[in-house]
Amino acid sequence: MTKTTDTPAALERHCVGLFGGTFDPIHYGHLRMALELKQELGFDDMRLLPCHLPPHRQMPGRSSAHRAAMVRLAVEGCESLAVDARELNRERPSYTVDTLEELREELGAEVSISWCMGMDSLVNLSKWHRWRELSRFAHLVVVSRPGWEIPSDGELGAWVRDHHKAPQSLKREPSGSLVIVPLSLLEISATQIREQIESGRSPRFLLPDPVWHYIEEKQLYLTRNNTTDES
Ligand code: ATP
Repeated sequence: MTKTTDTPAALERHCVGLFGGTFDPIHYGHLRMALELKQELGFDDMRLLPCHLPPHRQMPGRSSAHRAAMVRLAVEGCESLAVDARELNRERPSYTVDTLEELREELGAEVSISWCMGMDSLVNLSKWHRWRELSRFAHLVVVSRPGWEIPSDGELGAWVRDHHKAPQSLKREPSGSLVIVPLSLLEISATQIREQIESGRSPRFLLPDPVWHYIEEKQLYLTRNNTTDES
């Protein structure tokens, strides 16, 4: 077996973690995952990217402005997490590959960029726009979730086998690896929170209080859709 020694350049490489989602609404499951990944993988920056027009799923019921406002409130005063709202400034679907290409251009060739997601997102990766190019611009970091297996069949299974590496590769290379991280996740979903509010129950303690106060003030989630920014 060959022993790999990290070069000084790899040890100093700046590492940026990105966590995208519809965040409709953001909750402690998302926030814990972002923080634990940052700590576990030693990211220098960890950014949450609310997505504007998700191409892979149904349009969220709340406007981009409401969802982004809730993400900002959730991380207010938390130095470890930041919000990157670039996808909201595009009037077209939020393709991850476009976001990563733009960030690679902005951050330069040497910075390590990691796009983080749950295993439920990885299983659908081959439906994403230009999915094979994602690893040209970034690493993919996947958190295993109970009930979700690592894809092993077909084109995606072959891609997973080719790219699967140990977490150290995130420091060694700027992009190109798939790293799978077992983390204990909080069993919270945005769907569960929306259903609770719609049926008159409180989702308090599943999400930060400032986010809950915003939801109450704007009367979000009382019906299936509140898409306007003014409500
Ligand atoms: P919904 O219930 O509306 O599908 P969600 O809670 O799964 O929403 P999304 O905004 O769709 O949240 O998810 C963004 C990312 O967060 C995905 O990669 C997903 O795997 C991850 N994620 C969702 N819930 C959790 C959780 N409880 N813990 C950790 N990660 C989560």
